[in-house]
Amino acid sequence: MSKIIELSDNLANKIAAGEVIERPASVVKELLENAIDAKASQITVKIEEAGLKTIEIIDNGEGIAPEDVALALKRHATSKIKDVDELFRIRTLGFRGEALPSIASVSELTINTARSQTADVSGTHLVAKGGDITQNEPAPKRVGTQVKVENLFYNTPARLKYIKSLQAELAHITDIINRLSLAHPEVAFTLVNDGRDMMKTAGTGDLQQAIAGVYGISTAKKMVEISSADLDFDVTGYVSLPELTRANRNYITVLLNGRYIKNFLINRAIVDGYGSKLMVGRFPIAVIDIKIDPFLADVNVHPTKQEVRISKEGELMNLIKTAIRAALSDEVLIPDALENL
Ligand code: ADP
Ligand code: MG
Repeated sequence: MSKIIELSDNLANKIAAGEVIERPASVVKELLENAIDAKASQITVKIEEAGLKTIEIIDNGEGIAPEDVALALKRHATSKIKDVDELFRIRTLGFRGEALPSIASVSELTINTARSQTADVSGTHLVAKGGDITQNEPAPKRVGTQVKVENLFYNTPARLKYIKSLQAELAHITDIINRLSLAHPEVAFTLVNDGRDMMKTAGTGDLQQAIAGVYGISTAKKMVEISSADLDFDVTGYVSLPELTRANRNYITVLLNGRYIKNFLINRAIVDGYGSKLMVGRFPIAVIDIKIDPFLADVNVHPTKQEVRISKEGELMNLIKTAIRAALSDEVLIPDALENL
């Protein structure tokens, strides 16, 4: 008799969840990315008990077809790539088809979704517990998608134990919403925590207004615009005046083709751009938006997609450094977009 057995889908999903869904903020990140990929212009995040009791994300995006909703919970099922060519030219935030099955396997999940297409006479209401679908039926047609995740990690006690304080988890959630709000100024984000409004962005498409939504107007007014391009990269964004600094790098947001990424070398290039203008141990507030041919960036490095391999990294760092240096050498302030706020 063979010693090797093939694991059930449900078990495979729980294993994947270990990597993709580390904490409540990972759920928020994945669900927000799905809403953004669905071209939502308004996204509301409602959480209770720092996401451990409930995480609810409501978007006004494209919705999911009735025949696709159950499929969306299957591992490696995605509408975002079809073949290996597309894998090397990723334009969406998602592509692995792993988030929903992973989340579903460690929670109680409810999806209400509908498309605007006239062919769809109704929407869909789906419920799954621990990855097993218990309801999948027609529902009133409200265009967009609402995903509700309850009792996260109820069936993975070790993971639940690892969760620190509610306050720390809430901070992780706020952080990810802030970053994605900065990455997508065209989307109006709202965060409601235990029934109270915590954060709102305007969704006008203007990055400086998104910065105002996230960090406040007075901070946004002390940021200068940067812009630089060469044949491979297009770098835009805002960086704080040298007088406005923080004690850590957490206020540096690096975006690559709409994705929030973590990259030590780029952080260093940003700080280098300030030269001697920054005191030792102080860091700027910055949002650096890099556009690159997707062919030159490999996002398929880690399940959370925050690590990206970039070709010609040295060239990019120089571009960022010089753009910041130039912007800070002619400090022109109080830009137009904020005058009416
Ligand atoms: P991926 O995002 O990598 O494709 P997911 O497991 O996150 O994988 O989602 C599976 C599929 O479900 C997506 O490809 C998409 O077609 C659909 N989907 C998920 N969330 C939404 C949403 N908010 N709006 C529309 N479609 C969605
Ligand atoms: Mg996804």
